Amino acid sequence: KTILALHQVSKVFFGEDVETHAISNINLEIERGDYVAITGPSGSGKSTLLSILGLLDDITSGSYRIQDIETSTLDADTQAELRNLHIGFVFQSFNLLDGLTVFDNVALPLQYREPALATDEIERRVMGALKQVEMSHRAKHKPNQLSGGQQQRVAIARALAGEPSILLVDEPTGNLDSKNGDAVMALLGELNRQGTTICMVTHDIRYAGYAKRQIQLLDGVQVSSSVAKRDSCTAE
Ligand code: ADP
Ligand code: ADP
Repeated sequence: KTILALHQVSKVFFGEDVETHAISNINLEIERGDYVAITGPSGSGKSTLLSILGLLDDITSGSYRIQDIETSTLDADTQAELRNLHIGFVFQSFNLLDGLTVFDNVALPLQYREPALATDEIERRVMGALKQVEMSHRAKHKPNQLSGGQQQRVAIARALAGEPSILLVDEPTGNLDSKNGDAVMALLGELNRQGTTICMVTHDIRYAGYAKRQIQLLDGVQVSSSVAKRDSCTAE
């Protein structure tokens, strides 16, 4: 079952007297249970592609369907509804609020859901998501009382609590040392084995190997896609 489908998608940023072709004629289908890594050097279009997948950025041409709904012709409010329903985001910088407990950080997006979720449903989802990332025992802590790796696990729980169709993950290990980075990548791998669909941007070729397949970008063009060999990345 296809969740996301890009067909011949291009994105051009129009400046005063320059045009930047950030991505060009990208074709990508992501099915339920998939785990895709988007790789490529700085400036190759990875962030742009992830922003498009997350409906944070409009496409200049082509087609983008989420569960068979063409998104490019929708107004901003309808796009936001689709985003809230289908997309979970995980960022390099965690984006947790320091004044709130772990529980409240994970609960916050759910409290803005339309139609509103019942309080016990929110609690069920928050504790379920914290359990999935093994952070239940830290529900009452504040983010600054946690390691970077633990904060990233909370951020992953926040995304999971929305019960999205797909997790869009941007350089999840960028602010972590290698030990915490490895642990976060192992967690994403485990979530995928349990059924979570993931699309991750990484410039770290070693971590790209955790995905089931890779899309490699160069100057906005897809230069290759490959099926990852798990052995070659864990051997280091
Ligand atoms: P990556 O994530 O691989 O580093 P980006 O998607 O951020 O690449 O950028 C791809 C290209 O698009 C770069 O040349 C970048 O400067 C350009 N770009 C990205 N966002 C914008 C923007 N908002 N306005 C103008 N140019 C942009
Ligand atoms: P990263 O590689 O860590 O993802 P980037 O520098 O590629 O960081 O992009 C960070 C943000 O800045 C993105 O949201 C992107 O759209 C924006 N951006 C990148 N290049 C430009 C640019 N030339 N002009 C305006 N915004 C840009």
